[in-house]
Amino acid sequence: MRWQNRRLSDNVEDRRSGGGMRTLGVGGGIGGIIIVVLALLFNRNPQQVLQQVQQGSGNTQQSEQVTDNSDENSRFAATVLAETEDVWTKLFSEMNKTYQKPHMVLFRDFDQSGCGSAQAAMGPFYCPADEKVYLDLSFFNEMEQRFHVVGDFSRAYVIAHEVGHHVQNLLGITKKMDAMRSRLSEEEYNKLSVRLELQADFLAGVWAHHEQKMDDVLEAGDIEEALSAASAVGDDKLQKAAQGYVVPDAFTHGTSAQRMRWFKKGFESGNIKDGDTFNATDL
Ligand SMILES: [Zn+2]
Repeated sequence: MRWQNRRLSDNVEDRRSGGGMRTLGVGGGIGGIIIVVLALLFNRNPQQVLQQVQQGSGNTQQSEQVTDNSDENSRFAATVLAETEDVWTKLFSEMNKTYQKPHMVLFRDFDQSGCGSAQAAMGPFYCPADEKVYLDLSFFNEMEQRFHVVGDFSRAYVIAHEVGHHVQNLLGITKKMDAMRSRLSEEEYNKLSVRLELQADFLAGVWAHHEQKMDDVLEAGDIEEALSAASAVGDDKLQKAAQGYVVPDAFTHGTSAQRMRWFKKGFESGNIKDGDTFNATDL
């Protein structure tokens, strides 16, 4: 995937160093405001702190104080998030809707989400309550080491899948699912949540279709990388859920074959209308 030197999203909250909330990839703006707030909290002169930060980053537009060049994974995540913003903003405006961009929280080991505790062991997830994607970047290493999924586009697929859940949330699909929850047996609800997951895979494919059209980012083997990620995290190969915690993305996901099929379908069609997994007779 050709992703270097592209726009970084300014909707990334980097919480990896514990406690603080920082923003990646901004110049003055929000980054500046956050620095001022932090400075006030820690009893330091904001003007002085801002000057130090600007000197430290060589006065470039990007805030190098939050992500140095060796931090490739966080820059990659911020880049892919920015690409999903561009594609979904366009697709939503074509539906006469406004795309509200989700935040992405980068955390290490443990964090709090609007849906309960976030733990690295849970894998990435989307929390509809606070409209944020939670990602511990060590998951990318785990994909390589444990599941033998390699390649940057496999990581892009993971992010695009979670953003797919945000799209479902904005379109009211998540709400409908919640409303049905009390009326259905657990088994029936699980079947429905598989359809929700497969639709998120489809939406990841739709994103890849338009991202390629807009920016020509794909290289040979990229789609295969995404498919191998979809395959590796299918239910038949992986079923892990952290007990005792709210785990928004630990529902059943469908089989590897189903996940690959729906991602591919989204990639080939690029049309959100082709992704009605809820009424599909052949999943
Ligand atoms: Zn999911």
